[in-house]
Amino acid sequence: MITLTVQTSEHAQLLDVTGEVQAAVREAGVQSGVAHLHVPHTTAAITINENADPSVVHDVLADLERLAPWRQRYYQHTEGNSAAHLKSSLIGCDQAVLIENGHLALGTWQGIYFCEFDGPRTRRLMVRVRGA
Ligand code: ZN
Repeated sequence: MITLTVQTSEHAQLLDVTGEVQAAVREAGVQSGVAHLHVPHTTAAITINENADPSVVHDVLADLERLAPWRQRYYQHTEGNSAAHLKSSLIGCDQAVLIENGHLALGTWQGIYFCEFDGPRTRRLMVRVRGA
């Protein structure tokens, strides 16, 4: 297993980590198989979405903020980051990406995004590559 360090720079951010994950696949030397991705945090997540038009990332973050505003008078969690916990669960902390010919089998417009919801922080992304 490979653990990547992800340094986020914003409070809420979708960071394209496709290149780093592809490098981990290359390092594993697997030509055909699957890459399992896991984010071991409760206020971050991992997703796959469009990486061609940066306005998509903006709009996704804007709508997540609308769904889960940072402050709600009824929140009880004293750390004050309940919205980040909710967003982490909504997006999820795991992804699996197929590997073909040594490359991530992503669509033309797809990229892998590390999702930060309570940053900036130094985060971890765990990658396990298996041949099949
Ligand atoms: Zn918390």
